[in-house]
Amino acid sequence: MNLARQIEQYLPRQLLELVRDISGQAARQGQRVYLVGGVVRDLLLGYPNFDLDLVVEGDAVKLAQQVAETSQAKLLAHQRFGTAKLRYENSTLDLATARKETYAKPGALPTVTPGTLEDDLVRRDFSVNAMAISLAANDYGELLDPYQGKNDLEHRLIRILHPESFRDDATRILRAVRYERRLCFELETQTAQLLKQDIPMLDTISGDRIRHELELIFKEKQPEFVINRLAELEVLPRISPFLKGDGWIVKKFDEARHLKKPTQLPSLYFCLLIYSLSETGIEQFLARLNIPAKLSRAIRDTLRLKTRLPLLDTSPLKPSETYYLLREYEPLAIQANAIASEPSMAQRYLQLYLTKLRYVRTSLDGEELKRLGISAGPEMGKVLQALHKAKLDGEVRTRADEKKLALSLSRKL
Ligand code: ATP
Ligand code: MG
Repeated sequence: MNLARQIEQYLPRQLLELVRDISGQAARQGQRVYLVGGVVRDLLLGYPNFDLDLVVEGDAVKLAQQVAETSQAKLLAHQRFGTAKLRYENSTLDLATARKETYAKPGALPTVTPGTLEDDLVRRDFSVNAMAISLAANDYGELLDPYQGKNDLEHRLIRILHPESFRDDATRILRAVRYERRLCFELETQTAQLLKQDIPMLDTISGDRIRHELELIFKEKQPEFVINRLAELEVLPRISPFLKGDGWIVKKFDEARHLKKPTQLPSLYFCLLIYSLSETGIEQFLARLNIPAKLSRAIRDTLRLKTRLPLLDTSPLKPSETYYLLREYEPLAIQANAIASEPSMAQRYLQLYLTKLRYVRTSLDGEELKRLGISAGPEMGKVLQALHKAKLDGEVRTRADEKKLALSLSRKL
């Protein structure tokens, strides 16, 4: 099957020019170069994906350097072991030397040596990700599909390439489910059986790698369906014993995504994912996934605040009281609790803090207070704090109000 015409139609102009430059340069050097992986899959499905990965039978770094010398493309980075990144206008693409991988033991990173395209495809995760398109002059556009990936695309199946696949690298368990949900595919029968059987192999994977896969899941459009499917397959508790996926996760992840400014969405998903865990459960989760310090803080704060929510529900609080109560928590933890809690007074306080209170500033600053005759030091600190409190509670509104209050306070101090 030849996809030359589809490539021309599918790729944006800059990328197409870059691909042509690479292809031409490779031909002059007698190296063969291919489009591989996700872009081939998505091109066949007709989905946009302009994250191009190219594989070179030869030396990818040398090829990239020569393309950079002879065209307007720039070499962004390269590594000792045969990978390089090229940029042209606003587009980038990755080039890699075709590699052969062998696994010394399950879960370990593979030993890598240069290889052929065949070697490079056989090490891949699923048949739909193990296709290539030739960019060589003599067979430009030809589809290379040794594992019938195209057939699996047509039947909407995720299939591993050999029975040892999940044992070699159990992150593929998470990847399989991620693609299955993203593409609305099914796990092919034997793949599904082996996946279930090899779930314990997740124990061979480092925390950093598992976390990375979760981060990739959290970048999906609807990660909740991946999480639920992982729960259904009993993969989730193998990562951390009390993790659950259910209707609650679906509802809350959806709410998180529909926030006006969903900053740090992946981190917010993490905080919601652990919401039903106990302190011990959370500590186990943080340790297993080697969660970095900042996110760990937000996750621990989420639980700490959750246990204090009843306090916000008992008696009416002044805005300043709400502020002092909540300012010690990471905003992410407050956001997670605002989403996770049911409509209540507590939830309204969390919202008030997030949308207003945390941004309240006095109009007067230290310099202006000095001009009013208030000396720097503890006195000024007290005045500023009192002004801020009054502003939070709506007792001062204008600069003039603040000046008046500052002067009267300083007289009393
Ligand atoms: P997308 O980026 O759309 O999720 P992709 O196919 O580009 O899909 P990447 O994670 O960017 O996925 O990886 C690029 C390619 O590398 C994949 O298509 C797959 O062939 C291969 N790959 C990635 N991770 C693994 C793995 N753990 N085992 C085997 N092959 C892998
Ligand atoms: Mg990709």
